Amino acid sequence: MKFATRAIHAGQAADVATGATIVPIYQTSTFTQSAPGEHKGFEYSRSGNPTRQALETCLASLESAAHGLAFASGLAAENAVLSLLRPGDHVVAGEDLYGGTGRLLRQVFAPLGIRTTFVDTSDGAALSAALEPSTRLVWVETPSNPLLLVTDIAFAAKVTHDNRALLVVDNTFATPYLQRPLELGADIVVHSTTKYAGGHSDVVGGAVLVDDPGLASQLTFYQNAAGGVPGPFDSWLVLRGLKTLALRMRAHCENAASVAAFLASRSEVESVYYPGLPSHPGHELAGQQMSGFGGMVSLRLAGGRDAALHFLQALTYFSLAESLGGVESLASYPAEMTHASLPAEDRERRGISGGLVRLSVGVEDIDDLLADLEQALEASRG
Ligand SMILES: *Cc1c(COP(=O)(O)O)cnc(C)c1O
Repeated sequence: MKFATRAIHAGQAADVATGATIVPIYQTSTFTQSAPGEHKGFEYSRSGNPTRQALETCLASLESAAHGLAFASGLAAENAVLSLLRPGDHVVAGEDLYGGTGRLLRQVFAPLGIRTTFVDTSDGAALSAALEPSTRLVWVETPSNPLLLVTDIAFAAKVTHDNRALLVVDNTFATPYLQRPLELGADIVVHSTTKYAGGHSDVVGGAVLVDDPGLASQLTFYQNAAGGVPGPFDSWLVLRGLKTLALRMRAHCENAASVAAFLASRSEVESVYYPGLPSHPGHELAGQQMSGFGGMVSLRLAGGRDAALHFLQALTYFSLAESLGGVESLASYPAEMTHASLPAEDRERRGISGGLVRLSVGVEDIDDLLADLEQALEASRG
């Protein structure tokens, strides 16, 4: 089965009990047993629920993984992965990372004795140099947030494995439609299914995908023991979103490419960050390890913070909001929104400041999006 077919059919056979064509929302906490320990595969919904199981099967299929685990949020999924570590273990993580991932490493796991070195993982030499004998995990986000830097997954897998560590890739931005890290050598894929997987900005969720049976059993134990699972309705919403992932990603890529080209032609814009532009440093690599360049575009306005605030204020179809990956276009100001939890000097050094704006380009009609951006750029001149 091809990708778009698996998105609609994997884990989603007609319901055995009723013939329901769509996987039902099994809104139950528990399952009746015919005798102690005799049941139909489900006992209690923290340990397993049929709606969640359908989602886990579908996600695993899309990521070319043998095992899928769904969580209540992307950060709950990340927490499960980081719980594989023990005090004294060291992590190497990308510095251009989702703000909440950095916060989890710095403020939750560092106090437990798990140290992280943050480096630009798109720089192979910097990545290799950051590995230590005690490094157990390398955490990569590609394309990254908000600068859309591209990390070579196959190279990262090689240096990570040479160091006897595990490579984790946060595949939220690319989605399995555009990039499948396990096929490139990664050990663990994490997702915020809140974003493109769900796709409609109406649910918060996360997932972990692995091939290795040992890792799968440790993570399954953790999922049940710590309990950060999604409810049946949230699982169902993500599963419904996945059905149109292929269609949506094609539309996101097409619109984002037009938006990036338009922004690059405007004098108000100092730079555009989009892997699909030949001027982007990761363009060639993205073309090799991804089958499209995604729906996220960042831009730097020449007029700095004031221009950015005027621009954001003037947009109509792009809502000023955190999050990304929904059918509707969103705009954010990373320095004071998604990346506000970063130390100020880190933000400055990496250029997450001044005129930097991040767009999640939706699937509205491109003419309306370009007209909206054009009038907002005019307004940004103040
Ligand atoms: C949103 C996001 C997360 C966190 O996911 P939540 O569902 O908000 O907990 C992690 N990584 C990336 C790249 C994200 O965009």
